[in-house]
Amino acid sequence: MSINWFPGHMAKARRQIEESLKKVDVVIEILDARIPYASKNPMLDHVIGDKPRVVVLNKKDMANNKETDRWINRLKAEGVYPIALNGKEPNVLKKIENTVVEATKEIFERMERKGINPRAIRAMIVGIPNVGKSTIINNIAKRKVAKTGNTPGVTKAQQWIKAGTKMELLDTPGVLWPKFEDESIGQKLSLTGAIKDNVVNLDDIAIFALKFMQEHHLDALKQFYNINIDENTEIVEIFDAIGQSRGFKMSGNEIDYERVTERVIYDTRDAKIGRFTFDLAESAE
Ligand code: GDP
Repeated sequence: MSINWFPGHMAKARRQIEESLKKVDVVIEILDARIPYASKNPMLDHVIGDKPRVVVLNKKDMANNKETDRWINRLKAEGVYPIALNGKEPNVLKKIENTVVEATKEIFERMERKGINPRAIRAMIVGIPNVGKSTIINNIAKRKVAKTGNTPGVTKAQQWIKAGTKMELLDTPGVLWPKFEDESIGQKLSLTGAIKDNVVNLDDIAIFALKFMQEHHLDALKQFYNINIDENTEIVEIFDAIGQSRGFKMSGNEIDYERVTERVIYDTRDAKIGRFTFDLAESAE
């Protein structure tokens, strides 16, 4: 489920994140490991400023491992504290805790030197819709706290939840808007489920997915749909081949392109064809 964002939502979300930021020592930004560039909110860097930041590449189980490693290196070089996670796994709390401790080490050492009593590290989770914020909060809190669903910004009264022994977490994530400016970013957001299918042209999404796989993962594509194509096959012929192979036909034996389109989108989105990363660490900017 995602939101249609309007300027009012965006202003409100920004204001509320700014308010919450005053209460925390560290921000935990959740990105989708399949699209670490496209799933970044465009304004967040500016609002966070110098505050320590942990960046979670979530859904790593659906992304390409090598590419995730490259992203981790790139993010380290950018001066944030990255980790790759499957938000549904049991070790999430430990991994996040370790990284949060590392990210805030200097602040807490400074506090100690000044004789300030040690206290829990305060953190909040932020990110665009569908990246796994609620899943991670619920996992960390070992109970259902954040409503899975999306409201711009942070709406209900926030509470601190204990997360392990060293950390306190705001129980409501900051929900931020995705990037809209660029068509290919929109296609990646749609392909991973971060924006609603009804705000984009589904044909374009399926074409984008097929072109990406034809260029980068041809064997996986051929095997999954049991089709015989190569790197030069025209896209419309790939649609035909999938329709033939899957038996998606209308009366008169015509290929049912709508069904092919939907199938390709869902199979890609659910990582059934393979684990793909659509933003390459080397070239995304
Ligand atoms: P939010 O909108 O950011 O709070 O995202 P949710 O926590 O509601 O997660 C969106 C969808 O992604 C849900 O269907 C989750 O079950 C799924 N999800 C979250 N984290 C992971 C993950 O690491 N791996 C996989 N495969 N699915 C995940």
